[in-house]
Amino acid sequence: MDKKNILLLTTGGTIASKPGGQGLEPQRSDVMERELEQLRTYYRITVRDLICLDSSNITPEEWQLIARHIYEDRVGFDGVVVSHGTDTMAYTASAVTFMLPNIDIPVVFTGSQLPLADMLSDGPENLRTAFAMAASGHPGVFLAFDRKVMLGCRAVKIRASGFSAFESVNARYAAQVTNRGLAVDTSVLPVPGGPPRLADALSQNVFLLKLTPGLNPAVFDVLAAMGYKGIVIEAFGLGGVNVLHKGLRGIRRAVEDGISVVVTTQCLYDSSDLRVYQVGNQLLDLGVIQGRDMTTEAAMTKLMWALGQNMNPEQVKDLFEKSLAGEITENPDETGK
Ligand code: ASP
Repeated sequence: MDKKNILLLTTGGTIASKPGGQGLEPQRSDVMERELEQLRTYYRITVRDLICLDSSNITPEEWQLIARHIYEDRVGFDGVVVSHGTDTMAYTASAVTFMLPNIDIPVVFTGSQLPLADMLSDGPENLRTAFAMAASGHPGVFLAFDRKVMLGCRAVKIRASGFSAFESVNARYAAQVTNRGLAVDTSVLPVPGGPPRLADALSQNVFLLKLTPGLNPAVFDVLAAMGYKGIVIEAFGLGGVNVLHKGLRGIRRAVEDGISVVVTTQCLYDSSDLRVYQVGNQLLDLGVIQGRDMTTEAAMTKLMWALGQNMNPEQVKDLFEKSLAGEITENPDETGK
């Protein structure tokens, strides 16, 4: 049988780390060679080292570099695997999802909690799951970890050290490793709506604010003065915000100043819904945008992407009504969750 042609782009992270003087240090792909040699039994693999960073140091510039390489280098490959540190992998996978609309091959992010150099590493298994998904013929941006594959825009890192480090939030897995091999749930996969594009412009003027009881509303004036054009508020429960004690004043001013304000929830699971409580409806009256059941990572990167495409507040609002790649449940009754 013809082997599938897979491109591996490496970016560093624990998976490619070795102990150094101050703890684990990311290395280039030579430290992955032993495992790649085994995978070459099944796939034709081309490796390109893009960057070599602990993912804590990855910024939107690296997201753009990764997206450009995937888009430009993918020609002739059946799929792309991106090895990445786990700490910010969900942000990168979400951002890359939006920067590569209608991507026409599978792009699969993966990493590990223990370096490949460690005999007990989870890296070999994660790489194998990622390669299997990359060879599956199902286009989209995914994250593979602990024998599960999820949409990149639904992934959240939920454990700092446990091997089951990622969860697909408010969406079923795109695929799972079973005793019959990789079982893909095609109902989860994104449906391409046109030719693939590279849309890599991003705005970095987006701030994530986690609400706390009694937060000083003057913080919104400070953010406006700093030039922020978008704010994601992680509110309480279904989307509650402290509206007493001038709590709304700052948000009202931000919206009036043309800042796009997206309200999501601090809860990991389920959707925010501002229509349920008086405090939520007061927010909606101000013109804030509902984040619905998006992850914080998806809400942040979607807003950075929308503002990077020079959308005005009305266009941003319309965009957040739509699911671009499965980041929002458009028909909540159909999720089965
Ligand atoms: N600090 C590492 C990183 O994100 C953690 C990991 O890869 O698991 O690069």
